[in-house]
Amino acid sequence: MKAHDLQGRKALVTGGARGIGAATAEALAAAGASVLIADVMEDTGRATASALTAKGAKAEFVRLDVTDDAQWAKAVDATIEALGGFDLLVNNAGVEITSLIADLDPADLRRMLDVNVVGTALGMKHAFRAMRPGGAAGKGGAVVNISSVAATIAFPGIAGYSATKSAVDRLTRVGAMESGKLGYGVRVNCIYPGLVPTAMGQKLAADVVTAGLFPSAEAAIGAVIDQTPLGRLGEVGDMADAVVFLCSDASRFVTGAGLPVDGGMGM
Ligand code: NAD
Repeated sequence: MKAHDLQGRKALVTGGARGIGAATAEALAAAGASVLIADVMEDTGRATASALTAKGAKAEFVRLDVTDDAQWAKAVDATIEALGGFDLLVNNAGVEITSLIADLDPADLRRMLDVNVVGTALGMKHAFRAMRPGGAAGKGGAVVNISSVAATIAFPGIAGYSATKSAVDRLTRVGAMESGKLGYGVRVNCIYPGLVPTAMGQKLAADVVTAGLFPSAEAAIGAVIDQTPLGRLGEVGDMADAVVFLCSDASRFVTGAGLPVDGGMGM
């Protein structure tokens, strides 16, 4: 048996159509889990699920806007129906809108709060209700929230985003406390990814240039690498492997933890 064996586990990955979420869905499937990819990007999400199925995994897609409570209830029902249970939730969907504090647009700030904070909190709500004893799945499980190195350092241009990712960190701790104390049998942890050149990461590097903080995207990325002891950007697989660990029994006594996966940038 592999150390991080997830045979028989049933996972829901939000924002799983692309980027870190897609890599996470692939890594969970490679560890033996069946996976429901949930996203607002329907065509991309379906293609990602099909690619996993083509590799022999059990994978399906469901449309889910994580800001919508009613859609969450349906997505969890769909997971249980399609996969025959629900043990793992990766709250990965997120948005980043770069802005100096002096230029903040309240609509952008509210959008990040809605997706990153409300979306993550609703995910925990519906996972707890389904996974706890007596719930529709009822066998406990694990939740992994995707926070960010932005919750652990001060990087210019991402104040609003950093605030939402700090909130994800706190949601994780209180979630772990409630789940433990109330006997839900659900471990709750988060990771803090460093900068990863996904669509989001690349746009961030361009947007801090527009904000006047760096002369070029290359300079912005160079500054991040300079601050990173391991001397490179993150890769989606770095994040996915950490999530698999936190989903697996190898982390059975770990809850309420935040794991930096940032090459040391945030220490
Ligand atoms: P990405 O933009 O490539 O992918 C994000 C995914 O989330 C997309 O598929 C998108 O459609 C989906 N999504 C957005 N809003 C949604 C909603 N309301 N409901 C459902 N799905 C929604 O970004 P990524 O880089 O893969 O980021 C994944 C997570 O990792 C995010 O939470 C992000 O904040 C976090 N993160 C990313 C980095 C980075 O440098 N890329 C660093 C730290 C943390």
